[in-house]
Amino acid sequence: MSRLAENLTSVKARIALAAKNAGRDPESIQLIAVSKTKPVEDVYAALESGQRDFGENYLQDALQKIQDIQTRDVIWHFIGPIQSNKTRSIAESFDWVQTLDREKIARRLNDQRPEDMSPLNVCIQINLDEEESKSGIVLEQALALGKLVETLPRLRLRGLMFIPAPQENSAARLETCQRAQQQFQEFKQEFPDCDTLSLGMSSDLEEAIAAGSTMVRIGTDIFGERH
Ligand SMILES: *Cc1c(COP(=O)(O)O)cnc(C)c1O
Repeated sequence: MSRLAENLTSVKARIALAAKNAGRDPESIQLIAVSKTKPVEDVYAALESGQRDFGENYLQDALQKIQDIQTRDVIWHFIGPIQSNKTRSIAESFDWVQTLDREKIARRLNDQRPEDMSPLNVCIQINLDEEESKSGIVLEQALALGKLVETLPRLRLRGLMFIPAPQENSAARLETCQRAQQQFQEFKQEFPDCDTLSLGMSSDLEEAIAAGSTMVRIGTDIFGERH
């Protein structure tokens, strides 16, 4: 087995174990392989191992890979900051956008989503710790943005996405992930059709699943360190 295939197998085993420990069905947790900065060959290798969902942060880099691959059954998730002059490429090339945090971007993505594609799946990014340097909005703003997204026919509201600040120990990570879950539950009261809590990266995969994450985004532990 290649190194990458081994890594994928081990990440899936971690997901299965964390799910079991939480009394959850492992199938209820979707794995997004975050291939940002990695060559297209790595994406092919992961595809050969059965991975279908990939996350990318840097648009130019991502568009090149999407063009190179052109395999129908790859599902591409945009998980980086969105500049408003880049929305057209995102709307035309991705299946999901997980970093929506403002109205103007929502309207542009809706207007630019091609008619022959299914609606763009959208998660709103929450800034859990209200750090000024980070993207994302607070829950109250997300509720207002969610209401707008529901009126936009070319977007489909799926849930919330979180990038918690790094924590020193597992107990702190779990506490943070549980706060994210609480906010997701409040959000779901307004938007009961939402099914996605995108939470958990290489360093907090177990805690995220314990807290009820339905989608984990794993880069380093699949593709290795980024340089
Ligand atoms: C880079 C990135 C990840 C993956 O992080 P790892 O720690 O490498 O697993 C997940 N989500 C987002 C939004 C990222 O930017």
